[in-house]
Amino acid sequence: MTTAPKPIRIAIVLNGQEFICHAVTLPFSLEGYPPVDLVLYGAKPEVAAGCQVNPLPDLDPGAFDLILDGQFITAGLPDFSPEQADNLITGPAARFLNGLVRQFQELRQEQEINSGIINRATDAIVTINEDHVIVGYNRGAEQMFGYTRTEALGQDLTIVIPPPYKAEHRAYVRRYVATREARMIGKHARLSAQRRDGREFPISISFSVAEIRDNLYFTGIIRDLTEYKEMEDRVLHTERLAAVGNTMTHIAHEIKNPLLIIGGFARQLIKLPGLDDKSRHKLSIIAEAVGHLEEMVAEMREFVRRPPAQKRPGQIGAALTAALELFQDTLADHRVTVRRVEETPLPPVTFDPKQVHQVLINLFKNALEAMPQGGEITVTSRVKGANAEISIADTGAGIAPEVAGKIFQPYFTTKEKGTGLGLAICQGIISEHGGVILVDSTPGQGTTFTIQLPLEAAPLVEG
Ligand code: ADP
Ligand code: MG
Repeated sequence: MTTAPKPIRIAIVLNGQEFICHAVTLPFSLEGYPPVDLVLYGAKPEVAAGCQVNPLPDLDPGAFDLILDGQFITAGLPDFSPEQADNLITGPAARFLNGLVRQFQELRQEQEINSGIINRATDAIVTINEDHVIVGYNRGAEQMFGYTRTEALGQDLTIVIPPPYKAEHRAYVRRYVATREARMIGKHARLSAQRRDGREFPISISFSVAEIRDNLYFTGIIRDLTEYKEMEDRVLHTERLAAVGNTMTHIAHEIKNPLLIIGGFARQLIKLPGLDDKSRHKLSIIAEAVGHLEEMVAEMREFVRRPPAQKRPGQIGAALTAALELFQDTLADHRVTVRRVEETPLPPVTFDPKQVHQVLINLFKNALEAMPQGGEITVTSRVKGANAEISIADTGAGIAPEVAGKIFQPYFTTKEKGTGLGLAICQGIISEHGGVILVDSTPGQGTTFTIQLPLEAAPLVEG
């Protein structure tokens, strides 16, 4: 798309009296500026030694962008020293050329400084022309978008715009060119861009427009917001958690006593002799609801301030039996059967029995809640590597893949009456024991939670 710029042709007419010259060439080339073709004409071409001076009658005014008459070039620049003059033309033409050279040199310097700044900037700076074609692309842009400068220059800007916005952006530029009506120019915006590999990422961008020789150039200064956005999300999440946590603790504290009173009275009243069935039924509903609330409050308190683990060597198998016993009636009520498989006998493990009990209860409760129509829970224990491993598998609804990554997050729940704290508590306890808790689930078939607790933590019993 880009063609080499046309040189600016300048003819200088010399009057043949006051110049000596060697080859007249502009001693520089300027990136981004058209080259300059200087052609000298003179009435006395023979005066010029080693310098091409063409006969004046050959001058074709139509062939030049600019014709300068040596006689009238009297820029007030200091004269050349003889050494400089040795290489250049002297007299007014020399002054003009000197001025031209200086101007170009200054321009070049300015351009070098600018392009240095532009290139060193960590922001991406991209310029397009009216045709939406990339004509400027700095190193920051190379890093951000993944295209090299050579690859990007001459391409349509849409290579870095995500599909839904490609047409829109182009239309916007076209409209601006036609109407000069600015909506985004001079403003900052948060948009998304696209990397070479197709990944979309958040950016902030500020736009500017420049009119150079009747052509419009649009420049965007772009900052990658990926990291910023992640940090922002994290902060937001933590803040929200902290806020929710505080409120929860407060509520838990405030409602604990009233709950005790309501539950206690309800249970007392149920026992009243001569109570009619309807009232008794209502009271039992109250007691049940209060029981549920008490459980929730306990979970919240447990989550917010769990006492440090009091570990001692013991049998995990016994903890399993105890937890299952607690659930016996409920399991039967829900038509859930339990199968225990001892693949390998478990040696003693160092753990806090209360806390591990809590973990098992939470996992059984979740399994139960995942199988409202009944099913089977398989509890397997084995030694695996340096760990005692217990897995609790249910035949319930399973966990949808889009949800699986969130289930250990505090307050994440898919249940109408859930607290979303059960698994967060489990994970907290198990990691404090130096272990891990893993999940494996097939939607529609069931879920397996696996706890691994390190064996080596158990001190050897001497005997
Ligand atoms: P809650 O039980 O209060 O919802 P949890 O932290 O115990 O909170 O569980 C979080 C979420 O993980 C549940 O809402 C549920 O979506 C999912 N989940 C946990 N255990 C199971 C399971 N055994 N089967 C299916 N989904 C489960
Ligand atoms: Mg739960």
